[in-house]
Amino acid sequence: MEYKRRKTRIIKVGDIRIGGNSPISIQGMTKTETKDITATANQINRLKEIGAEIVRVAVKDIQDAKAIKIIRRKTDAALVADIHFNYQFAIETIKNGIDKIRLNPGNIFDSNQIKEVVACAKEHRIPIRVGVNSGSVRKTSGSLVNSMVKSALDYIKILEKLRFFDIVVSLKASEVNDTISAYEKLAKLCDYPFHLGVTATGPLLPGTIKSTLAIGSLLEEGIGDTIRVSLTSRPEDEIMVSKEILQSLGLRNFYPEIVSCPTCGRCQIDLIKIVNLIKNKVDALPSRNSRLASKKIALMGCIVNGPGEAKQADMGVAFTRNLALLFKKGKVIKKASQKDSINFILKQLEKG
Ligand code: SF4
Repeated sequence: MEYKRRKTRIIKVGDIRIGGNSPISIQGMTKTETKDITATANQINRLKEIGAEIVRVAVKDIQDAKAIKIIRRKTDAALVADIHFNYQFAIETIKNGIDKIRLNPGNIFDSNQIKEVVACAKEHRIPIRVGVNSGSVRKTSGSLVNSMVKSALDYIKILEKLRFFDIVVSLKASEVNDTISAYEKLAKLCDYPFHLGVTATGPLLPGTIKSTLAIGSLLEEGIGDTIRVSLTSRPEDEIMVSKEILQSLGLRNFYPEIVSCPTCGRCQIDLIKIVNLIKNKVDALPSRNSRLASKKIALMGCIVNGPGEAKQADMGVAFTRNLALLFKKGKVIKKASQKDSINFILKQLEKG
């Protein structure tokens, strides 16, 4: 597939670049109270360890804003403060070392307040995300999508008038189609990088599907520079789903891909258990091992179709009730017991 990415400006969040040809970055969000400094710093570092490149924290009062100063010393992750209603929290977090702020045009819109925040952001050289959300967008005439796009454009104009251009934009709706339409519309009207996401998606499975459909469709069109999957689930799940979306589209490689069959009446072993075992191992690998990350491992439930169905795999196993065939690039290389064949794959992964 030829992937043609929308041309966008580049902004910097800490050490991470968003836009241009920079890799599509993964964002996470803590689910702790930000003023609980130890819990928040631990969660930020945990999310960074599993692949979050930028982590957002909620700042809902002045204690949260003040906590950024100490949290900043406890992590080197790129940090974003999520600000609503009170512009002074934005200023406080910027002074305390935050790498980016998110402002919601639905609840911080006084021009003098924006002017003060922009002056502070300029002084500290940090970008601003214009974060439009369908739940808090100020409705203008027309559809929800049009109101969202207009809200973003109006805000961008205010920032540009203040000669501020370090902007990233998000347009999150809770419906997949509205989210896609809003980003598609705005993509034609500005060249600022986009932060993709769907809001209020729900629990793990439906949330993953909604996020994948919206974020995946937009990325496939070349729209999107950084993503955040939002789930009513553990913050780690949001990072894992983000990685799966980017890897499935071939945009980034984080870990070896597992090719496994759905199993059927021919399958004589507990393939689901074996696949989960190998997948857990694969997920725990350091994501920086790029050689290993580009590998494909096939785990097939029988020998009738196993090697043939997984010709593209670098290595694999086709299981029978008592025996397993190990193969490389679709060619059988030896027979082994079920246990030995699983150990063979695990060893290959450990070797890297
Ligand atoms: S590889 Fe074998 S067990 Fe798996 S789905 Fe195909 S026929 Fe069934």
